[in-house]
Amino acid sequence: MKLGNSAAATDPGRRRRHNEDSYVCEPPVFAVADGIGGAQAGEVASGLAAAALRDNSGDGDGDMPGRVDALIQEANRRVYQRQAADAAVSGMGTTMTAALVEGDHVWIGHVGDSRAYRIRDDSLEQLTEDHSLVAELVRSGKLSPEEAEGHPQRSVVTRALGTDPDVDVDTFQIETKPGDLFLLCSDGLTTMVDDATILAETGRNRDDLKAAAKALVRAANRGGGEDNITVVFFEIVGDEDHTVSLPPQQEGTDDDEETLDELDRVSVVETAEEPEPPPRRERSPARRRALLSAVALIAVILASGFAVWGLWHSHFVGAEPDGHVAVYQGLPWNIAGNLHLYRAVYVSPLQAVQLSEPERKKLFDHSLRSKSSAFAAVRRYENQIGNSP
Ligand code: MN
Repeated sequence: MKLGNSAAATDPGRRRRHNEDSYVCEPPVFAVADGIGGAQAGEVASGLAAAALRDNSGDGDGDMPGRVDALIQEANRRVYQRQAADAAVSGMGTTMTAALVEGDHVWIGHVGDSRAYRIRDDSLEQLTEDHSLVAELVRSGKLSPEEAEGHPQRSVVTRALGTDPDVDVDTFQIETKPGDLFLLCSDGLTTMVDDATILAETGRNRDDLKAAAKALVRAANRGGGEDNITVVFFEIVGDEDHTVSLPPQQEGTDDDEETLDELDRVSVVETAEEPEPPPRRERSPARRRALLSAVALIAVILASGFAVWGLWHSHFVGAEPDGHVAVYQGLPWNIAGNLHLYRAVYVSPLQAVQLSEPERKKLFDHSLRSKSSAFAAVRRYENQIGNSP
């Protein structure tokens, strides 16, 4: 077994002016990094982390888990030192999900909410666990995976490079077989498209990984493109694959789609038939409009009822998109995508990453509180962190 083709694509998406994602696609090293921090600091952070990986990936001493950990520790050190030294980028950070291929093994190093997947036999397996507030709430049973999907605070990470001199890195090994396709991506992909779409777009473009990467970026933009989108693909092929002789191609065929190249021959073995997109159910336009307006009306009535009750009576503790702990008045839900039922009434200097996981579990328990109890809970942690050296 050996490393086959690889490809990457990145895009700012449709809502952001800057692209704060960075990636590495330099076989045998692959990574995505999603920068955190306003005013372009996120770009600096993810760029520094990616550069550290490129500079140091050749250092081949020690066992593999140690090497992967050391690579990411070095990336963390560079981001940490820069943000500590430069007020303009103070507080910046970045996620990093990296893969190192050595022999028959793929090693993953992971911090944050970017993800690694393995695609095998037309199924998508998530290899990494998100280090995010919402993922913690799901793991502790406070939120269902469905509730997490549209959650307003789904992008708040609980572990990142750059916030501390040392970082806790998840490192592990993944077994592979010929035909496996690995996907690294930032949350700008996974919050905008579902697993079925990732599989369908990848399957359609399995013979051209660059086209597959671009197709995923397009799908994320179709889904809203609310965040920067980055996709890195690499595949594992059999040792003998490059020596297989191809049948002579017929002259004069104008059907490019049918032309097999070396990679097609490999993937045909492993890739199941491309799934047909589900047939669309047709409704008459008039019935559809009537149905839609009825649904919209019910949604508005329900939402107003909840909003009136919720906005006046409840508070909860959460975190702003930049990671700062905050007290919100209202209900911790979004309706219809971007319509909020809450507003921040207090943003703390405290950041979610400064708390331990048990502390976060207590603070962000997602329950509704009175205003005074929400403030008291946040102040308690502010004092603790403020008093510690
Ligand atoms: Mn992102």
